[in-house]
Amino acid sequence: MSEKLLVIGESRDEALRNVTFEAIAAAKKINAEGEIVGVVLGNEDLQEQAQEMVYFGADRVITVKHDNLKSYTSEGYGQAVMAIVSEESPKAIIMGHTAIGKDLTPKIASKMETGLISDATDIELKDGNVIFTRPIYSGKAFEKKVITSGVTFATIRPNNIAALERDESRTGDIVSKEIDVANIRTVIREVIRKATEGVDLSEAKVIIAGGRGVKSEEGFKPLQELADVLGGAVGASRGACDAEYCDYSLQIGQTGKVVTPDLYIACGISGAIQHLAGMSNSKVIVAINKDPEANIFNVADYGIVGDLFEVVPMLIEEIKSLQKN
Ligand code: FAD
Repeated sequence: MSEKLLVIGESRDEALRNVTFEAIAAAKKINAEGEIVGVVLGNEDLQEQAQEMVYFGADRVITVKHDNLKSYTSEGYGQAVMAIVSEESPKAIIMGHTAIGKDLTPKIASKMETGLISDATDIELKDGNVIFTRPIYSGKAFEKKVITSGVTFATIRPNNIAALERDESRTGDIVSKEIDVANIRTVIREVIRKATEGVDLSEAKVIIAGGRGVKSEEGFKPLQELADVLGGAVGASRGACDAEYCDYSLQIGQTGKVVTPDLYIACGISGAIQHLAGMSNSKVIVAINKDPEANIFNVADYGIVGDLFEVVPMLIEEIKSLQKN
């Protein structure tokens, strides 16, 4: 009988759905011959999300619908996942390193009395071992880890492991399961979602980030314009958020969002280690800074020493004229 690999899915928005599909690809990397069993939890119809997991490579998907799974609570999700784990005895469990993934997986790992590799950015097979790569010291170094016995339990960083191509010809069973999710002590009174305009930061392929060098809320306007012409999103350093030039929801870094876009343009950001922790895995990094000694140039693929208020408008004009031709 083939090994089972459990993928705990999330369905709330597009970014979370994408990381679920990336988790399926991660499970395939761990064992291409194994049975990928998806899990979707919620209080509404979960059929569509389950079907999408099949199109992205799951062999079977278990859905659990319960009123107590309306909003995420570690108790509710923990009960449902533990019941499935007991029944399926998976050899591996994979989830996205998302807000929920970060909260839920250590609790499950401790209940199972097993280890957990969190925030993996790569998975490779070598000499019969599954090797996980994960950043340490705020992204300054990477460590490689191997699980030698027991369950392979890991969370994967979004945007690092490519999802498989969506294929509607893939088939798989979708099984609805009754699990009594009871005695939830956490009461969610209200869920307030921040309304964001345009491209979601954690999803964006292009990010234009501003730091204290942007100098004011007004100073973010050219950055927004550059993001608009490139179809990207605006992000920020904590310096810019602390100075109230922009909202904390834009903060990138150790205590903000971790992003891995194709293109990251840092404008007036010095490149503190805590900022690099959130963006240094971007595919191409461009830095614009007045100070040629700024640390951001150490991680940049392209550096522009200059005043961002001169450079950014020039970039906008150039890109617009290229787009016209
Ligand atoms: P500064 O360091 O002040 O840099 C501004 C830069 O702008 C300078 O390099 C300057 O040369 C340049 N500049 C000025 N004017 C112009 C101009 N006209 N054109 C071009 N360049 C110009 N920081 C984060 O970003 N994210 C985090 O998640 C985060 N978490 C933290 C957690 C902890 C526990 C701690 C202690 C700190 C954290 N920080 C974080 C803060 C971090 O240490 C830095 O203070 C912060 O990143 C600095 O922001 P900055 O680069 O915008 O500002």
